[in-house]
This record gives sequence, structure tokens and C-alpha cells, in this order.
Amino acid sequence: MNEYDSNRIYDSVRKIGFNKTSNQSEADCYILNTCHIRDKAKEKVYHEIGRVKKLFRNKQKPLMVVAGCVAQAENEEMLKREPYIDIIIGPQSYHKVNDLLNKHISDLKQEETEFDTISKFGYFDKVKNSNNKISAFLTIQEGCDKFCHFCVVPYTRGPEYSRPFNTIISEVEQLIENGVKEITLLGQNVNAYSYIENSKHYRISHIINYLEQYPELERIRYTTSHPRDMTDDLIECYSTSSKLMPFVHLPIQSGSNKILELMNRKHTVDDYLNIYEKLKKINQEIEFSSDFIIGYPGETQKDFEDTCNLLKKIKFINSFSFIFSPRPGTKASKFNMIDNNIAKERLKLVQDELFDNQIKINKSMENFTIDVLVENKLEKQNKFFGRNKYISPVIFEGDKNHIGKLVKVKIKTSNQNTLFGSIEKNMKAA
Ligand code: SAM
Ligand code: SF4
Repeated sequence: MNEYDSNRIYDSVRKIGFNKTSNQSEADCYILNTCHIRDKAKEKVYHEIGRVKKLFRNKQKPLMVVAGCVAQAENEEMLKREPYIDIIIGPQSYHKVNDLLNKHISDLKQEETEFDTISKFGYFDKVKNSNNKISAFLTIQEGCDKFCHFCVVPYTRGPEYSRPFNTIISEVEQLIENGVKEITLLGQNVNAYSYIENSKHYRISHIINYLEQYPELERIRYTTSHPRDMTDDLIECYSTSSKLMPFVHLPIQSGSNKILELMNRKHTVDDYLNIYEKLKKINQEIEFSSDFIIGYPGETQKDFEDTCNLLKKIKFINSFSFIFSPRPGTKASKFNMIDNNIAKERLKLVQDELFDNQIKINKSMENFTIDVLVENKLEKQNKFFGRNKYISPVIFEGDKNHIGKLVKVKIKTSNQNTLFGSIEKNMKAA
């Protein structure tokens, strides 16, 4: 979502004369977009500012803007600690970025961290989305009302908000006009999307079905979804939509019901397995990925083994796993932490299992021909980059006419993260 936000901030500031530069020491303005989901993010910001200070040691300092969830969570504390910062702007105030930059000419320090989501999207609906990458993100929903005990999102991104259906579609059309071939619908709980207009209740399934009709669009994805919102209409899309990729990122966090309850997740392991079964039944090709939090307060050896057993039941194609990181202001930050060395050992065991799965799944694709959406040429190499339907990176020999097209690539080798191959001549993927 930060990538999407950064692009939209750029779409806004270029209206008042700012342009991107790749020459860092010549920038007039830095906007650091930040994430607060785990610890150390705040320190990274100060570290980055230190780097900029050095670059500009003998020159006029650039404008320094801190955006994103660290800005939201820390707000004026950051201005006090680091006078080099000029502007603090939270994720629901990005529509004010041009005003803040303009006003800054009058040399005022500014902090803008109101939750003004409706005005934000209202403003950006009128700013053309200039993203012309082959694969683009598009935020349809933001914020969260679920309040898992470990998570800062409800505090930094605010309550759940779904954008009006029509404004999403008009942004989709802008992206398609720019040449985008794959759209990933985004939200902190993207499948909680819910918008009512003229007594019609729009869910994410409506957006997916609507997007299906654009011939220029090759692929549809969405992330991140929550098990509670995996409703039958969305599951049904996996049989009706030819463009929805058979890849479901559905975080479970733990394989222990006790830990799920302590996390306030509002779903059980069985709920998750039911969704898994339903999806596999509707489309056998679907592969899953998940997020895991290891070493959550109260996690015993038995709870940890429950997570390991789940990994044996579901062979996740790729997943994110993290040690629990206490976040200020959340309930779990007040719980007793488990021993850090035990947490580290458990994380290693889980990652060994997850990575082993990934290696095996990638290996099983060797010598097969797969569909790849070609995104770009690799710098300094005569190779191209794209992704398969399961979002795995594919590097292959091809040519620049294939950029933006779906092609058939024969996989020759693989490693944990990437598949390598070459394009099958004269074969356009179906
Ligand atoms: N809304 C999605 C869900 O509930 O499934 C997840 C979105 S969250 C922004 C992304 C991931 O960050 C979570 O699934 C979780 O695994 C991880 N995460 C969030 N807070 C964390 C914490 N305090 N410590 C470690 N990992 C955390
Ligand atoms: Fe955070 Fe996801 Fe839980 Fe919301 S549902 S609080 S975003 S982990």
C-alpha cells in the first residue's frame, strides 16, 4: 500500500512543479514513506535522515517530509527529536500534501495526522493516476476495525473505509489507458470491501467480476485478505473469473486456536481449513500463502507444534513469518514476552519448513512451460522479468517486444525464490 500511496503522492506534488529525480544529492525535497508494522521502522527513518544530512552537508538543506504510519504514530514527537524534519503527514492526510509543501515556503514546521479518509480519496479521485507499470496496485479499501491485539493498523490507518465502486472503476480505466495489464486490488483487509449505493451492496467480488470485462487487462489479484471476510461470493469468483489468479494470500498467523484467541483473530484453525477446502474444491490449481507470527506471548511448545502441523497439512507456496514485535499502544504490548532465543529457534524451524516447500514447488515447475506476464528488462542484463500466476518471479531470455504480454516460458532451473528459463518461440500464452 505504501508503494501505491507513494505513487499517488507523486501524482499530487507534480501538479505544483515537483518532479522525480534519481540524483539524490540534487533533490529539493525528500518524502520518506514509512511503515510501522514492526519495530525498528522509526529508527530507520532517523538513520535515513542522517544519510541525507551528510549528502547535503555543505549545501542548502532539502525539504524533509516524513509520511506514512510512523509519521501517524509518532507525530510531533518526531519534529521535537529531529529538527531536520519539516513536515509530518499521516496516511489519511495525503490530500493536503501540496498545501503543506506550498505553506512550507513560509518556514513553518507542520504536522498533519487527522483521519480524513473521505476527503483524501475525494481529492485523489480528481488526480489522474499516472502509473504506467505493467503491474499496478490500486487501493480499494483502507483501515481496519478488527483490532487484533498485536497490530497497529487500526491506530495508524484508522477505521475501515471502502472507496465508492465508480471511483475505483474510473481509476482502473486510467490504469488500463496507461498500459497496465495486471491490477492488484489493495486493502489492509481488502476482502472486507463493502460499499452501498442505491441499495446495491458492492463487495470485492463485484469489482473482480466487473474488471473481467476489460480485454486489455490480463490479470487480477488482491491482497491482503482476512479469513473472516472470505465470503462465498468471493470464493465463487475462482470459478467464474478467467483473470483472477489462482493464488490466495490469506494470513492465519498461528496454527493454535489458543494463540488465535489470545491474538483476538476471530477465526479458528478449522475456519481456515474450511476456506482452504472450499477454494481447492472450486479450483484445484489454487495455491496459498500466509503470514505467521512466531513467539507470540503465551505460545507454548505445544502451540508452536500446532503451527508446524498446519504447515504439514497446507503446503504454502510462499509465506511471511516474523517474530512477534510489541507495538506501542496495542494490547499485546502489555503481555509477557516469551524468551527471545526460543522465539528465534522457532522462527528458524518454521522458515526452514516454509522455504523447503518453496524450493520443492519451484523445482516441480522445472521442464514445464508456464504463463508469464512480462514486466521489464533487467538492468545491465539481456534478460527479462515477469511473474507466473502464483506471483513467483521468473527471469528468462526473451525480447523487448514481449514486455506487457503474456508469454510461455520453459523453466530450466529454479531456486527458493525465482524460476529461470527461456521463452518458447512463437508461442503466446493462452
Ligand atoms: N489484515 C491482514 C490480516 O489480518 O490477515 C494482515 C495485514 S498486517 C498489516 C500484515 C502482517 O504483519 C500480519 O499478517 C502479521 O503477520 C504481521 N504483523 C502485524 N503486527 C505484527 C507484530 N506486532 N509483530 C509481528 N508481526 C506483525
Ligand atoms: Fe491488523 Fe489485519 Fe488484525 Fe486488522 S485484521 S488488526 S490489519 S492484523
